[in-house]
Amino acid sequence: MPQKILIIEDEVSILRGLKDNLVGEGYGVIAASKGKEGLEKALTEEVDLVLLDVMLPGMSGFDICMEIKAKKITLPIIMLTAKSKEADKILGLALGADDYVTKPFSVNELLARINAVLRRVKVHQKAKEKKISSYEFGDIRLDFIKMEAYRGKKRLSFSKKEFDILAYMIKRKGEVITRNDLLDVVWGYKAFPTTRTVDNFVARIRKKIEDKPSSPKYILSVRSAGYKFVT
Ligand code: CA
Repeated sequence: MPQKILIIEDEVSILRGLKDNLVGEGYGVIAASKGKEGLEKALTEEVDLVLLDVMLPGMSGFDICMEIKAKKITLPIIMLTAKSKEADKILGLALGADDYVTKPFSVNELLARINAVLRRVKVHQKAKEKKISSYEFGDIRLDFIKMEAYRGKKRLSFSKKEFDILAYMIKRKGEVITRNDLLDVVWGYKAFPTTRTVDNFVARIRKKIEDKPSSPKYILSVRSAGYKFVT
């Protein structure tokens, strides 16, 4: 089955161009030209990715992004922003958008971004399904089955969520992990804690496993992207 992309864009010429190109690349395409209609389709239809314009009649792309991520955190969103303003890009990413392109964009660039985002989603899904029973690094020993953590001989107190975050990070060792990935793994669709919640949990884990939590050597911060687990 072809992967399906929802385009939410009010400029007819851009919409038509995108549609033709994406269909030409083998994607299924559905479209909406109004904000509310687009949100509705994102939430009710089976789509694999959303291309979302920022300036839309009725509802801004930022609001739509927030509402989609609140209900379908794993549905990837690429924002199409007309402004080259840095603030717009930062806001979009802070609201959970997976990537953005600035208009006018080249079709090849957009296709490359779509490919990259869809590939990332696959990596995330695979990691989620992978099982891990135990892991050791430095003087840390983790038993995910018994849910026990040790630092040297000292038993560490870890919550279920902290084990889950660490397990996911270990499964994706060396890769950039987004806050959205962690939100999905640990909190799922039930609640929508902010990315700040993720940072707080990571800070707590660092305190337990890092020698110097302020300059970590295992759970690294990756600027404007998320985290990376290394050993
Ligand atoms: Ca627009």
